[in-house]
Amino acid sequence: MPARRPARTSATRAGRFTVTDPATGEAVDTAPELRPEELDAVVDRARAAWDGWRSDPAARAAALRAAADAVEAAGADLAPLLTREQGKPLAESRAEVARTAARLRYFAALDHGRPRPLVDERPVRSELRWRPLGPVAAIVPWNFPLQLAAAKFAPALAAGNTVVLKPSPYTPLATMHLATVLSAALPADVLTVVTGREPLGARLVSHPGIRHVTFTGSIPTGRAVARAAADTLARVTLELGGNDAAILLEDVDVDAVADRLFWAAFRNCGQVCMAVKRLYVPARRHPEVVEALARRARDTVVGPGLDPATRLGPLNNAPQLARVAHRTRQALAAGARAAAGGGRLAGPGHFFAPTILTDVPAHSPIVTEEQFGPVLPVLPYTRLDDAVEAANGTGFGLGGSVWGTDLDRAEEVAGRLDCGTAWINHHAELSLAQPFAGTKESGVGVAGGPWGLYGNLQPFVVHRPEETCP
Ligand code: NAD
Repeated sequence: MPARRPARTSATRAGRFTVTDPATGEAVDTAPELRPEELDAVVDRARAAWDGWRSDPAARAAALRAAADAVEAAGADLAPLLTREQGKPLAESRAEVARTAARLRYFAALDHGRPRPLVDERPVRSELRWRPLGPVAAIVPWNFPLQLAAAKFAPALAAGNTVVLKPSPYTPLATMHLATVLSAALPADVLTVVTGREPLGARLVSHPGIRHVTFTGSIPTGRAVARAAADTLARVTLELGGNDAAILLEDVDVDAVADRLFWAAFRNCGQVCMAVKRLYVPARRHPEVVEALARRARDTVVGPGLDPATRLGPLNNAPQLARVAHRTRQALAAGARAAAGGGRLAGPGHFFAPTILTDVPAHSPIVTEEQFGPVLPVLPYTRLDDAVEAANGTGFGLGGSVWGTDLDRAEEVAGRLDCGTAWINHHAELSLAQPFAGTKESGVGVAGGPWGLYGNLQPFVVHRPEETCP
């Protein structure tokens, strides 16, 4: 009888669940399943640790700098573990560890809300001070477990909050190891990682001891988080799904941009909130662009992330593989053609061939919804206005890009995109100093840069008269 493949996150022994390697289907390890009553104790400890942590900004900054050093020193252990549970090539895991440390260092260096005078038209002296909010719940998806966790806990901790962090049950292991590494630099209970399957996240975001929920994940879960936080009126920051469009202009230099464009769609196996997920191309240039991308798709080495030759790993989990396969089949059944790829690859892992689709009906879900996988629909247009309208014509609004040789023209078109960030001849290149905020259903609130810090702070204003009252 063939051996049954272990389920991705099945309980293996009491109180633990299995985490599976998406490249092999084999277990990597188990992680603890937190019990509801234990969550109360975790939040209580985070609340108790807050008093000390909030009181000394200079000590906080020093601890965060030491934390960044500790993450870098642990890179040789963290990166392979991340690859084993997430699937991404080892080089990308190393880059993710580096970005995790960089976030800690960036927020350690920001001004943590020093008091400043306010202009007041009355004869009073007004001072604006910033106060931390209290214990923060941070919920993270499985595509960038470490760097998205750091994007949440680094500003929250720098602002003087304590954090309870819940990774995805598909990728808890590197985050658990990160917590151990950080415990050498941070006081006890300032950052606690809790692991488990749902309803752990739902319980955490509705916990009365939590004062700010910072969530990254899909739009449907984001709605559930917002509804749950309504009961406690905790602050909510939501970074949600994207369906970014890239528009190529008539004068685009395909040879010059094809590599960058390809990887903007396929990096991390397309499992990037800000990946290029739809490509609009002038009809006259369409065959040339399809061929350039299809050639790259066919030449890309797909395999286990630990193999140094691999450029594209597996999809992270079975439901995501099924979703991508379903959307691709749907498009092919509706008349689309695969210029490269088109389906799952044989073998035990969650491998899917990098796929370039043409002749895709505009209403196909692979165009209107987020595929979050290695499949790119390439859509021809004749009028640029129609391409801009199509790019803006979904409920998503995370990012977008315009590609062409005349940069002024490209910038003018980019300015018409309804999204949080628009790039020219690039996509998904983010600076730590910039605000990160999707429009429409792609997000609520602002992360990144000083805005990310202030999202974790409460303004507090003190008025005093210039002179003693008569
Ligand atoms: P998901 O919404 O399924 O899960 C995200 C996290 O929420 C996980 O930790 C999950 O366990 C937890 N969760 C599930 N139900 C919950 C509930 N009711 N209450 C609280 N937490 C709950 O998303 P995913 O499949 O892990 O990640 C993929 C999605 O994330 C994509 O839509 C992608 O675009 C999005 N994403 C967005 C950004 C961004 O910055 N905007 C970045 C990365 C990923």
